[in-house]
Amino acid sequence: MTLINIINILRNTRTRMGLTQREIAHKIGKGETYISRIEHGRGSFSTKSVGQLARALGYRIELKLVPVKCDLCPTVKEPFIDGDSGFLCSVCFSKHNKKARKK
Ligand SMILES: [Zn+2]
Repeated sequence: MTLINIINILRNTRTRMGLTQREIAHKIGKGETYISRIEHGRGSFSTKSVGQLARALGYRIELKLVPVKCDLCPTVKEPFIDGDSGFLCSVCFSKHNKKARKK
């Protein structure tokens, strides 16, 4: 789930609960423009800010670190090597390098 998805869910939850931006802002001790900025993805805000908003609406945010998939094959193989054409698994990386050397 991306941060945009999270923010959309939080905005939908807020409106479903019948809360205005001002009311939810007051709940977390911030200004109305603070909530507006987050909901419209304007300016910069931290994960902590979104976390505070989430908690006020009954959610908590879990961060997940997931390995990047190989750009050439569907298999997720670690470790990934950052080749010229993106993230490649070790198998595709060696194939790609053999082709490159033949040129
Ligand atoms: Zn691969």
